[in-house]
Amino acid sequence: MSIIINDLVEAYIEGLYRSRNNFLKNLREGAEREGVPIITKDTENFLSVLLSIHRPERILEIGTAVGYSAIFSASVISKTKIISVEMDEHMYERALINIEASQMENRISVLKGDAREIISDLNESFDMVFIDAAKGHYKSFFEGSLKLLKPKGIIVSDNVLYKGMTASNEFLLKRKRTIVKRMRAYLEYLYHHTEFETAILSIGDGVAVSVRKVEE
Ligand code: SAH
Ligand code: MG
Repeated sequence: MSIIINDLVEAYIEGLYRSRNNFLKNLREGAEREGVPIITKDTENFLSVLLSIHRPERILEIGTAVGYSAIFSASVISKTKIISVEMDEHMYERALINIEASQMENRISVLKGDAREIISDLNESFDMVFIDAAKGHYKSFFEGSLKLLKPKGIIVSDNVLYKGMTASNEFLLKRKRTIVKRMRAYLEYLYHHTEFETAILSIGDGVAVSVRKVEE
């Protein structure tokens, strides 16, 4: 369970969940068993709706882990191409193996390195950016992605409520203080951004969706 206040509701929604296919089912089960922080089931459901509305042709993902969310997203929209960035060598290798096994290697490329550096070297443009990596750096990821985002592009940030810690000190673990402070600053920044509209949804571990304001 990820967000304390929503335990009951979340358990109910999780009960309705069905995996898209056996490959994703096995990948999710393996990742959950090991404690790899992949998107929660309700976040996955939300993403599939958002992807179906937005139909991105190109997605930039920051934080690949074992490739679950990338493979899932590619399976929702068959025309989508994804560039995903992962800095952990071991995760990177595992993602490549899983992506090959899913036969998505023509549609998902993984770049190895710190996304803060890698995105500044990219020249492609994207319809959607999915930020799902080190929580202390979301603002850098967001700002780094802006020049790559198409005018109607959206930025989705995962884990922004961080087990409830962002919303209340009641849940705050001392060793997470700095990260949580940075996440709060990020959400303040997003909410008061002059160019973006943002909604924070208490789905999974908290998802923020940001879209450019409509020009008058
Ligand atoms: N999106 C995945 C989960 C990603 S978990 C899914 O839902 O299936 C977060 C990952 O981000 C970890 O594997 C971690 O190694 C990676 N990461 C953390 N900071 C990063 C950075 N600065 N650049 C690239 N990857 C980073
Ligand atoms: Mg996440």
